[in-house]
Amino acid sequence: MYQSIHIKTKANSKHEAKILVIYTGGTLGMVYDPVSDGLVPFDFAQIPDNLPEMGRLDYDITVLTFDKLLDSSNMRPVIWVQLAEIIEQHYEQYDSFVILHGTDTMAYSASALSYLLENLNKPVIFTGAQLPIGAARTDAKENFITALEIAAAKQNNRPIVSEVCIYFNSVLLRGNRARKHESVQFNAFESENYPVLAEAGVRIEYNYPFLRHYKSNVSLKVHKHLDENVVILKLFPGISEQVVRSVLAIENLKGVVLETYGAGNAPTDEWFLKHIKASLDKGIVIYNISQCNGGRVTQGRYHTSHYLQEIGVISGADLTTEAAITKMMFAFAQSNDIATVKAILKQPIAGEMS
Ligand code: ASP
Repeated sequence: MYQSIHIKTKANSKHEAKILVIYTGGTLGMVYDPVSDGLVPFDFAQIPDNLPEMGRLDYDITVLTFDKLLDSSNMRPVIWVQLAEIIEQHYEQYDSFVILHGTDTMAYSASALSYLLENLNKPVIFTGAQLPIGAARTDAKENFITALEIAAAKQNNRPIVSEVCIYFNSVLLRGNRARKHESVQFNAFESENYPVLAEAGVRIEYNYPFLRHYKSNVSLKVHKHLDENVVILKLFPGISEQVVRSVLAIENLKGVVLETYGAGNAPTDEWFLKHIKASLDKGIVIYNISQCNGGRVTQGRYHTSHYLQEIGVISGADLTTEAAITKMMFAFAQSNDIATVKAILKQPIAGEMS
């Protein structure tokens, strides 16, 4: 499934950290190929040519390269489980993990991993790039090298970061709070509802009060199932009854992320509320997530969300859509009992909501 390469750095037996890099694909790992006159995935064995700076690091680095490198638009839940299993298999031998991943679905992957890796107390840092590592103005080098530094950072013999994060363009974000908001500029990710966990300038400044607390005396528990019987239904003015009815009638559907307006508001048309109520009565779970990047769902604040609250739509508070849909996949894989699933959805399980 993957190849393993040990990277030659200046590290000796007393290295600062032992890091496992998992290279899944994405723009970061592309180089220009004169033969095909296009961008092709880069072989990590050539890293000294493309990133000689790595040689100066005092880290023991091993890279696992996926046999089939992915544009992250092809990411799937089964691969999230594989990533979690790779981390489980290597957890004791390594201090930390850096996952090189395309930016398009990185926030979904980071959210999913944050749920799958229960009791994580080592850094798992996702990073990638907007420009390939082979391009002259690439952001890949800074992103990758700083992600390694953050992964290696310790204080009092403990990792400073002990959660799943995204490092990109000088900022470290909690993975399940981040979303891709920019496809051209280098600042691809933001986390509107949670403070930046670290900023990398001349020094890396950590925002200690907001980092997840290191838990001693716990062991990693890796969850290996996700349930894909979920859907995202985004509202828009003019959405038709046929669209709503068809989505809610999907066979085996268990959960819906309903992307509402503002503070969780939805149309009050009779037909709309009738379909939502009928789905809830059938046992489908509906999670109310706002289309706004910042703020939170407060069901009942406006008349247009009052009924949703009354009939049992669950408020997704300040969750991102990425964190919500993956949380639903996780929750339905945990239990067949709807009350248990709802209880999971209402609580933060990995710092994803407040
Ligand atoms: N399409 C690419 C991906 O997500 C974009 C990127 O890596 O930034 O794999």
